[in-house]
Amino acid sequence: MPAKEHIIVVGAGIVGVSAAIWLLRAGKKVTLLDRSEPGEGTSYGNAGVLASCSVAPVTAPGMIAKAPKMLLDPEFPLFLRWSYLPKLAPWLLKYLSHANAPETRRIAQGLAPLTSDSVEQHESLTNGTDASRWLTRSDYSFAYRDRAAFEADAFTWGLRRDAGFEPDIIEGPAVQEFEPLLSTEMKLLAVMRQHGVIDAPGSYVKALAQEAEALGARLVQSEVRDILLKDDRVEAVVIDGETIPCDGVVIATGVWSKPLAAKLGINVPLETERGYHIEFEPEDDALRAPIMVTTGKFVATPMSGGLRCAGVVEFGGLKAPASDKPIALLERTVRATFPNLKLKKRDTWLGHRPAPSDSLPLIGEIGASGVFAAFGHHHIGLTGGPKTGRIIADLISHGGVNMDLAPYDPNRFGG
Ligand SMILES: Cc1cc2nc3c(=O)[nH]c(=O)nc-3n(C[C@H](O)[C@H](O)[C@H](O)COP(=O)(O)OP(=O)(O)OC[C@H]3O[C@@H](n4cnc5c(N)ncnc54)[C@H](O)[C@@H]3O)c2cc1C
Repeated sequence: MPAKEHIIVVGAGIVGVSAAIWLLRAGKKVTLLDRSEPGEGTSYGNAGVLASCSVAPVTAPGMIAKAPKMLLDPEFPLFLRWSYLPKLAPWLLKYLSHANAPETRRIAQGLAPLTSDSVEQHESLTNGTDASRWLTRSDYSFAYRDRAAFEADAFTWGLRRDAGFEPDIIEGPAVQEFEPLLSTEMKLLAVMRQHGVIDAPGSYVKALAQEAEALGARLVQSEVRDILLKDDRVEAVVIDGETIPCDGVVIATGVWSKPLAAKLGINVPLETERGYHIEFEPEDDALRAPIMVTTGKFVATPMSGGLRCAGVVEFGGLKAPASDKPIALLERTVRATFPNLKLKKRDTWLGHRPAPSDSLPLIGEIGASGVFAAFGHHHIGLTGGPKTGRIIADLISHGGVNMDLAPYDPNRFGG
């Protein structure tokens, strides 16, 4: 019998563990490498929403004109660490070049195939495994102050409609009948049905890594130092104290992927869009399902460990510690949104959304190197991670998939 192809997956976040499981199911030998425990990166602290309808990028039309006011308004959830601006500038210029209607539509059309069947993809990944207990089908609502605010978002709702998602609208006192904890300031809810939620995303990813191990994967905790090529084809991965030979590599290192991609000659304009969560002590009353609170641009998700409120966008790089102002604003907005809930703050977290300048993830083979990119999922990594893992496994096992991968081409950025 020929030896099994050996694939090394670097990064044990939602994308990496999904790729590992689908590769193992396809009969590959898999090593899963991470410098930390599985599920401790960005996949740890997100809002847990399988946001199938989330096809609209942050770079909405008109953003260039609005951004300075947003940045100067202390009540708007967009922050910049000004000392980081010189480093950010080249990426920011590219990013803002997509803030127009045709580009926003193109990005939304690119994201929709990755997000739209998210719940089914998570179910296929987890059926029959211990991880399935963290996954629930649920609604996902968007709370607005009033109809005028909802209508001001018409362009974004148009993108969601084009992707096949139509909300149920609840207005007036019916909003608080549906979600009693919401402030009466919120007078319109746009409810998306057929979405999903992950209770404790970090534990979910750990359970998936255990599933990969049970299927035969070798789990190794180490930093990846280098990827070695021979005649432009991968032959090994270098970690501390060991060089591991392999037939293929998957780079699933989220926001930290730039240096590894650079080894393959790809210069990815990738930044961190820093985001925060605050967790509050569990209360008897809870929300029935996750809510995107549009006034504060955060998602409140009921989890068994508490109410997790996650959101805010801050630019400031990977190295700076958490900032006080975004956390304080998030807390103020949460308390105003749920005035009758006794909220005892328990935990805060800073995470790094992996943001390519064009808001589309990189999925596919880099040149003909046998190294596959699987990173850059921005706001939708939990949603689109399992499908990405499946695509990667199909590319490695069968050389192709039955969908257009052009929007995610990792070679689009060149050297
Ligand atoms: C506040 C917030 C809320 C969010 N809410 C949602 C949501 O509700 N729904 C949704 O779909 N998405 C959400 N996201 C986005 C989502 O969390 C990310 O897109 C997703 O977690 C990215 O997963 P990943 O596997 O690519 O990266 P990660 O989870 O970051 O995993 C990358 C792994 O690579 C490892 N690594 C890096 N470099 C190396 C190296 N050189 N050697 C070895 N290991 C390495 C790291 O240790 C890490 O474990 C949110 C993000 C934030 C910040």
